[in-house]
Formats: sequence, structure tokens, C-alpha cells
Amino acid sequence: MTARATTVMASRASVGAEARTTTTRGARRGRAGRRAMRTTRAMSERTAREEAVEAVREAAAAQVGLAVNGTEAPRRVFAAPATPVAGAPVRIFVDVERADALRSASARTLIGGCNDWKVGTFEAPMTKVEGTSWYYADVDVDARAYQVSFVFKGDGEAYEKDNGRDFAMEVEFGPTPDEFVEIMKMVAVEDAAKMAADSIVDAETRLARDGVPGVGATVEKHGRIVCKTSTGAPGVAGSTERIFWNKAMNPIGGDDAVKLIMHVGFNGWLRGVEDKREMTRAAGEPRDESNDWWVADVPIRLTASVLDFVVSDAEEMNWDNNDCEDYRLATEVDADDATWAAFRELTYEEKRADALRVLKAEQDRIERRARADAAAKAKAIEVGLKQQSFIIRTEPKVPEVGKPLKVFYNKNNTNLSWSEDIYMTGGFNRWTHDSALPPMKMTPPAAGEDFFCATVPSVPVDAWMADFVFSSGVGEGAQYDNKSGRDYHIPTRGGSAKKPSLHIVHVAVEMAPIAKVGGLADVVTAIGRATQDLGHMVEVVLPKYQFFNNSVLLGSREYETHFDWGGTTIRVEKCTVEGLQCFFIEPQNGMFQTDSVYGRNDDAARFNFFCNAALEFLTRTARQPDILHCHDWSSAEVARSYWEHYHHNGLTKPKVAFTIHNMNYGQAKLAEAVYHSQMTTTVSPSYAGEVSGSSVIGDNGHKFTGIRNGIDPDIWDPETDGFVPLKYDASNVEKGKAAARAELRSRLGMTSWDDKPIVGVVSRLTAQKGVHLIKHAAHHTLSRGGQFVLLGSAPDPKIQGEFNALANDLAGDNSGFFFAFDEPLSHLMYAGCDVILVPSMFEPCGLTQMISMRYGAVPVVRATGGLRDTVFDVDNEKERAAWEIAGSTDWKTDGDMTNGFSFEGTDEGSLDYALDRCLDAFYNDRAWFRSLQKRVMLQDWSWNKPALEYEELFFRMLGQ
Ligand code: ADP
Repeated sequence: MTARATTVMASRASVGAEARTTTTRGARRGRAGRRAMRTTRAMSERTAREEAVEAVREAAAAQVGLAVNGTEAPRRVFAAPATPVAGAPVRIFVDVERADALRSASARTLIGGCNDWKVGTFEAPMTKVEGTSWYYADVDVDARAYQVSFVFKGDGEAYEKDNGRDFAMEVEFGPTPDEFVEIMKMVAVEDAAKMAADSIVDAETRLARDGVPGVGATVEKHGRIVCKTSTGAPGVAGSTERIFWNKAMNPIGGDDAVKLIMHVGFNGWLRGVEDKREMTRAAGEPRDESNDWWVADVPIRLTASVLDFVVSDAEEMNWDNNDCEDYRLATEVDADDATWAAFRELTYEEKRADALRVLKAEQDRIERRARADAAAKAKAIEVGLKQQSFIIRTEPKVPEVGKPLKVFYNKNNTNLSWSEDIYMTGGFNRWTHDSALPPMKMTPPAAGEDFFCATVPSVPVDAWMADFVFSSGVGEGAQYDNKSGRDYHIPTRGGSAKKPSLHIVHVAVEMAPIAKVGGLADVVTAIGRATQDLGHMVEVVLPKYQFFNNSVLLGSREYETHFDWGGTTIRVEKCTVEGLQCFFIEPQNGMFQTDSVYGRNDDAARFNFFCNAALEFLTRTARQPDILHCHDWSSAEVARSYWEHYHHNGLTKPKVAFTIHNMNYGQAKLAEAVYHSQMTTTVSPSYAGEVSGSSVIGDNGHKFTGIRNGIDPDIWDPETDGFVPLKYDASNVEKGKAAARAELRSRLGMTSWDDKPIVGVVSRLTAQKGVHLIKHAAHHTLSRGGQFVLLGSAPDPKIQGEFNALANDLAGDNSGFFFAFDEPLSHLMYAGCDVILVPSMFEPCGLTQMISMRYGAVPVVRATGGLRDTVFDVDNEKERAAWEIAGSTDWKTDGDMTNGFSFEGTDEGSLDYALDRCLDAFYNDRAWFRSLQKRVMLQDWSWNKPALEYEELFFRMLGQ
């Protein structure tokens, strides 16, 4: 190493050390500390920049010398300074001898950008360091950079990369990634303000230059003057004009009104309402049938070519907007350049303040949401423990590592209720920890108490979970309570080790939003995201459909690998979708050159091929996931093929989870996957119970379980929903729903009579969804004085015909039918309806009832499948609701958690039983009904709880 290079590096190191100390200090301090840190950093930034410039000047020859002659193995690419500095030049070197794409190229270019290419992109020709095989290029690192990526371009499309990826280096003394996000938000604010200001000023300049045809100093209507300037000539910009308005034909404010309000804007309301002026009755003007003159003195803005106004009463309840045309009077503008410049500046500041307000509100909302999400996640864990606490609980409630733990067990509601003696066997970290607790006899409860007790001497310091089973004795003949195979688990606090991260690979043919046909697509994405959130590594393997090529929903895809298999070449691309790492399998035989997921007559053969190609991909890339998760008939093949072939050929580790989203298709394939999987799930516990006797499950009931689906609270969120007229949450649900109601009625052509309840249906119209009950409910709702709306699509023309007839029968102001699949309208339906009806004959899970609750619409449902697991009848199911939602056995103390109305039968009378109670509640006790709407909005039907259940299931499959 030459002396020079050493000096440069040493001084870099000391700058680095300074920065690190500053950061640590800053992190420990509060807000003031952060400010101090910024100042210190600003100083070191300056030094760092100067040093960087120096380093680039000095290091080139020395470092190339080092790379060529040095004894250390030289890197083929390096930078001077070694760690680039934000806002300073950097010289990047490459040894073309060791770069295939560059070695014999005729020209070499360095191409790069900062922060994943988001800012500071560059392209620079490279220069040879004479007498060596090294080339270099100088570039300036963007001042906002925390990272720089680059590649070298040779001739044509030849690129030199770092093992297939871009070269990447950290950058010092720039913002952190989080700070960069903030900087970019501010840039967006400034850009938006500038654009808005420019467009307003440009429009106003145009008006001033071209004039405004058809606008004069008076407005006439039906041959009568309805407003005018005081002089009869156009007003003058920059002066205050007295404006006259004729109230003769306007009831606003009543005959004896004393005060009205003029709402003023300019140039076609370009900047909205800019002024409000009090109006008084004009003295000295004639007052008769055609004349009732009111006046206001209005300062005219300097750049105004038109004065716009409307009039309201003092309460701003009744308005005159000139039959939707507003009032417009001409004004003369004579602004000089300085005025225009000042106006542009003012508008910019105004727009900037607006944009900042929006940004701030959005940030507040995001923070509020993050807190609520964290609380909801914690609550999901707590409810699980609470439900378990009636059998097992501990002292302290959350076990602490390094401390003893008392365990209490109540045998009464378990399979050990008969046993005199109870033994406890314990372990840690899902039984993977070395220190297991041998069976110990528990102390029986004192008279009148229920809980046996035993003490764990000390919870190991690296425990993240405590595990227990209980038994009637020890050894042969003893009976066990192991929570039906799941064992009892209680997370600990303060452990030095973390729960292991599982590697889960989904193989599926649908995934939302890129390849969505039905619920399967949503669930694949949602389970993936929710388990990833819990700290696991999730990957999804999908076919690469032709329609991916033009999809606006897909980000950039990258080549991953290719291999020959199945008589063709399989090309694999990767892409991140909704935060999940996805791999797209593309056989070059054109099998997935399709415009839709399903619909070719060889779907079964194609998907079988895909499943095997997916397994081949996993094998060839030496992946060994813990869990392979396949879905429905279309990827059922994974289960069979894995255990029959791949498990013996390199892909040895995974266990197979199989989820049935729909029992009605491909039953032979479903049954095969049930047989081969280690766990089969379906999408709600009740539905699992209902179908457990089916031939698909056969005698595999022991590995079949139901985990309900959830909804994505970010997609279904009335607080951010762009399809509702007034965004709302539980705190202003009444207002929000009232606005949505009005808009829904107007969209569906109904009268806006606010006091009627709106009952709605959003559904595919198929026999499964209870079409006969939907039709009956429409008549029944109207007969009870309510309004009925339906958004539905019927694949079967006969059913569509029936609904057309129904729509005709009920045509009028109190019903609205919309036959289409219309996602935006569905949002408005949930927001606008007071009640959502889901009278399904069977329902594996159902999403509509959960979405409707999120929007404050009360669900009325048939108690089947997932509907039964999510809707609890307000009159009959207070206990069940409290237990399922809060793990409470005492609703009187813990609160009523019921959330809807349900019925059992499939006949009209049964439906009436639920719907009538709901409508009665609406009519008889509106305050209570509104409070119910608020209550249902606050319940958590997201994936928080189901994700924990899937995690539990995956661990169990691994024998943990
Ligand atoms: P299924 O998957 O059996 O149709 P779910 O209740 O599980 O029933 O999911 C239905 C989903 O489809 C919901 O998100 C619902 O909002 C939506 N949906 C149903 N019909 C329509 C429609 N006509 N227009 C828009 N969205 C609809």
C-alpha cells in the first residue's frame, strides 16, 4: 500500500468515526439533541466534501497502483473516496481485464443513480488509466443520496454488473433513507404548489389578454336584470365596487331578511371562494314584484377579469347560484409585470400552504393508523391468550425470562376433567429448547377453586415461548390434554432469542391484484403479507401469464433464471408485488400465453405442468422452504408431486399446507391434495365443520381445520376511500354515511328522503348467494317503508332475467338496481347502506359482511359458514360475541360486542325474522342503531388474528 493511499484512507476513517459518534449521541437525545446533531453533521459534511474532492484528486494513481501491485487481493471495482460522500465528486474505477462486457469494448460508459435510481442519475464516459487495464469515470454524487448504484456499459447492450445485480455502495453524510422520503415529500409539495400556481397565473393572464366573451356589467335572466355594477360599466381591478343583486325572485332569507352573504371569487373561481361579503338591502332602490335590490362592497383583486359570486342566507343553508350558472360580472384588469409576479408568488405560497396542510394531515393519519394497527395486533394476541386463560394462565401473566413462573391449569373444561391428579410437562421455544421440564405433579386447587398449580423454577434467558401439555399421569396409560394437538403456548418477555423465521413458498395461479379472478387471489396476497409481517420469509410462485406483459399493476420484472424441463425451456422472472417476492414461471412452449387465468379447455393440464415446473424451480435454485402452501384444485398438484417425486430428489425439507377456498371445483384434485398435505385448511371454522364430512376430506378430518379470512383494512377504509364523498371513521360515521347515502341515492336515481333505511346487497347473483331470499328481501324492505339497492352480476341469464323483472316491478324512487361488477360503486354501496344483507345458502367465508362492518353498515346474514363466525346476533348471541371477539365470558361487564342480525332457515319467514328486527331497531331507536353502526366499525376483521393462526399451524406442521 502506498503512503498516499494510507493517508487518504486514515482520514476517511476518522471522519466516519466522528459521524458515528454524533449519530449515537443524537439518537440518545430528544428533539433538541437531534437539532444539535444536524448542526454537527452539517460541519462534518463540509469537511467530508472537501476531503472527498481531495481524495478523488489524489487517490487515483495510488489506488490503481494498489490494485495492480498491492499484495491484498484487489477488487475489480472500487471508488475514491472508498465510501462516496453525498454532494461530492467520486471517481469510480473498473478493471476491464476482469469485466467481460468491457474487456474488448470500443467504448465504456458508467451509468448510475442514487437511492435506487430515484435521484441523481448519471451517465459518464470512462477514461483509461494509461499503462494499466483500469478505467475510471468522475461523477457527482447527489446531495440527497444515501446510496449509489451503477453498472458499466460496453458495446451494444453489454452491461457489466455485480453478479447479476447493480453495483451498490453506501453514501456517507447524506440523509438517512427515512429523511430522504421526507425530502421527496417536500419536493412533491413544492412541485405541486408550483404547478398549481403556474396554471392559475397562466389562466388569469390569458383571461386578461383575451377578455371574457359574453360577460358584461349586468346579468339578465328572463328579460330582467338580476345583478349589476353600480355604474353600469365593468368594475375596475384593484378598486372596491358596489355590486347589486336582485332578490325579487329568491326566497332565500325570507321576505324580511336583514342580512345575506355574497360569496366571491374571481376569474371563474380559479382560486375558489376568496371573499365573503355581508349584503344589505340597497337604500333608495325601487322595491316591487320585480325589484328587491341588495348590495355588497367588494374589493376586486388586481388581476381579476371576472367577478364570480353566489348568494346565501346568513346561516348558509339556502343558496342562490343563478340556476347553477353563478353570477359573473366583467372587470377591467390592467396589471403590470410586477403585479403579475407578486400574484404568482402569493398564489404559490397559498398553494404551498394548502399542500403542506394535506401532507401534514396525511402524516397524522398514517401515524394514527400505525398506532391503531399495533394496538389491534397486540389485541389479537391478547384475545387468544385470554380465551386460553380459562384453562391455563400464568403468574406473571406474560412469562419473564430468568424468573420463576407459576402455571395454573383448570381441568374442568378439558378431556382431563375426570382425573384426580394432573401432571404438567413443559418446554420452551416450541419444544426446540434443550431445557425441557419433565412431568411434574401439580398442586390440586384449594376447596372451592378450580386451578391446579405448578412452578417452573426459571424461564431460560433465551426463551421466546413457553410450551405446556397436561396429563392424568406419567407413562403408559396416561391421558393428555394437548389442546387437540396444538399444545398450549405462551409467548415470553425479554428473551435474548427470537422466534425463528420460517420460509414459506406459496404456489398459486391467482394473486391480487395482478391476476385476480376471485377471493383466492385476495387471500394468497393477504396471507402472504400477514405472515411476512410476523417476521417470516414469504415467496410466491405464479405462472407468467401473457397479460402480465402490459399490466399497469406490475412493477419492473427481472430475469431470475432459466432451465430446460418438460420438453421446453422454463424462464423465470421475479418481481415484488404488494411487498411480496414473486417468481413468474414462463414455459417457452406458450402454455401461459393467455389473456386470462382460466378459460382454456386444457386448464387442468396447464396448471399441473405449472405446479411441477414450480417444484423444479425450487429444486434447481436449491431452495428448501419450511412450508409449501398450495391453493384449491389449480395448485393441488404440488402436494402430490412433491411427496411422490421432488421430496426424493433434492427438495427434501418442506411440509405441505393446502387451503381449500372453494369445495365445488376439481374435487378429485382437492381430495388428492388433502391426502398428501400435512395440513389442510379452509376459510372459516364453521365452514370447516360443515364440510368435514365430505368425500374430499374423507378420513383426513384430523388434519383439517378452518381459519377465517380477513379483509385488508387499507383497501377497505372509509377514512381514505376515494370512492366515498366524505371520508369518515367511527367518530363521524353519521355524517360520512349521510353524505354517501345522498350520493348513492342520486347515482341510482332515487329520491333523497333521508329518513328511510337503505338495505343493500353486493353480490354475485348465483344460487349460493340465496337469490330467492334477496328477491324477497327487496319486496319486504319496501313494504316496511325502506329502500332497497342492489349491485350484482348474474352469470346465469335465467337469474338475470328474474332480477330484471324484479327491478321492473319495484321501479320507482325507493329501489335502485345496478347489474354489473363495479368495484368503485361497491365502495359507495357499503358506505351508503344502513344495512347489508347476505342471505347465502352456504358461505365458505364471505367478505361482504366484514367489509360492510368496516363501513358502518349493519350486516343481516344467514348463519352459515364464515357468516356465522363473523356476525353475532344482537338479540341472541351476546355471550358468543364476547367470547369470540374479546375472549370474555362476561359481556355484561366487558360490553356488548354483537354486531348484526342473523337467521338460520332458508325460507322467507326466517329472513323476515332477522330483517324485521333490524328495521324495527332502525325505526324505534335510531340512536341505538347509529351506535351499533359505530360499534361494528371498530371491530377488527383484518388478518391480525388469522395470521397468528396460520403461523401456529405452520409451526405445528414442523412438529413444533
Ligand atoms: P364470493 O367470493 O363468493 O363472491 P365474497 O363475499 O367472499 O363472495 O367476496 C365478494 C367480493 O366481491 C366482495 O369484495 C364484494 O364487494 C365483491 N363483489 C361482489 N359482487 C360485486 C359487484 N357486482 N360489483 C363489485 N364488487 C362485487
